[in-house]
Amino acid sequence: MSLISLGAAASPIAILSALPQEQRGLIALLQQPQKVIHANRDFWLGNLHGQPVVLALSRIGKVAAATTTAALIERFGVGRIVFTGVAGGLGQGVKVGDVVVATELIQHDLDVSPLFPRYEVPHYGKARFHCDPVLSALLFEASRNALAHESLASHGYADACVHQGLIASGDRFVCGADESRMLRDTMAGAGHAVMAVEMEGAAIAQVCLDYGVPFAVMRTISDRADDSAHVDFHDFV
Ligand code: SAH
Repeated sequence: MSLISLGAAASPIAILSALPQEQRGLIALLQQPQKVIHANRDFWLGNLHGQPVVLALSRIGKVAAATTTAALIERFGVGRIVFTGVAGGLGQGVKVGDVVVATELIQHDLDVSPLFPRYEVPHYGKARFHCDPVLSALLFEASRNALAHESLASHGYADACVHQGLIASGDRFVCGADESRMLRDTMAGAGHAVMAVEMEGAAIAQVCLDYGVPFAVMRTISDRADDSAHVDFHDFV
């Protein structure tokens, strides 16, 4: 079973990215492409491996990602959502070139304490939102196969590997060794061992929970969210 074959039912799979650079290769592969402009965004309808898909940019940050996700579900009737893009590595041993497939997502900048526990989304009763295990397992397998087959050695990522774990999202490009250490340690102290940090995933997770739409997130590590993150991010992308 492949990721695409899951879309054999009528409703299309959405493939979301944040940046045009993350999406470009997918648009190049799209068959019978049709661009629809909605909510001030471009949505690309078409087929991949004979299955209907919709490609879209979340844009950057949680609010933009939530808007795109709601539009994909309400306007385009997608039945599953997969996010693919880059992120900063936060966990020990999560290095540039590695892939992190999310098991859960959390908003690292959400704080309604002391009214609710730190990181908890009010009235959802939890801080962490689970990804769909079937989609995530397929992403994990696909990522492992891709790293095994592609010629990453020439790019200096010969020992790149795939991790599974918690990804944190927030409206901030984390770019400082002290900041990323504090973020990792503070969250670990609250019981949240974070592997990677980005700006959209947890928003997509929350909207997908509201609509009952399965989703999964994979992120390639572009930087270590440290003092050189802005340079590493640009070089990698
Ligand atoms: N250069 C872009 C802005 C990129 S913002 C522009 O000009 O439009 C960074 C993007 O990469 C976000 O989508 C975020 O999800 C991800 N990302 C990569 N590294 C990150 C980090 N260290 N902290 C937060 N987000 C990061």
